Amino acid sequence: MSYDDNNIFARILRGEIPCKKVYENDHALAFHDINPLMPVHVLVIPKGAYVNLDDFSAKAAPEALAGFLQAVGETARLMGVGEDGYRIVANNGAHANQEVPHFHVHIFGGRQIRGRMIRADE
Ligand code: 5GP
Repeated sequence: MSYDDNNIFARILRGEIPCKKVYENDHALAFHDINPLMPVHVLVIPKGAYVNLDDFSAKAAPEALAGFLQAVGETARLMGVGEDGYRIVANNGAHANQEVPHFHVHIFGGRQIRGRMIRADE
């Protein structure tokens, strides 16, 4: 799948669409999901043009991979869920119902999550 430069997260990265920013470093941007499913629901995206985790993990430079992971952990701490815990979800491709074709992880937290797997917002 080729990268669509006009996907919504590409437009957020270019500043064409606003977002509620939580954290940013050289390689990643974190912002609140527009339709939160949990008390804490933040998205973390790489600044590079990657469709999904498959694409990102295959093509991104080590610094970009490290910077992204650092941003996920720092964002969770800034949201106050580092100690109590949180769930990371990355919908990757069609079988996972990925909607926005720019790689992102969801950080879910702020209350006890009931399910062990599959549903992020249980
Ligand atoms: P996916 O199903 O691709 O893993 O999740 C995409 C997420 O992006 C959804 O949770 C959706 O609410 C969120 N989203 C879609 N459009 C926007 C937007 O314009 N701004 C923000 N902040 N989140 C968005």
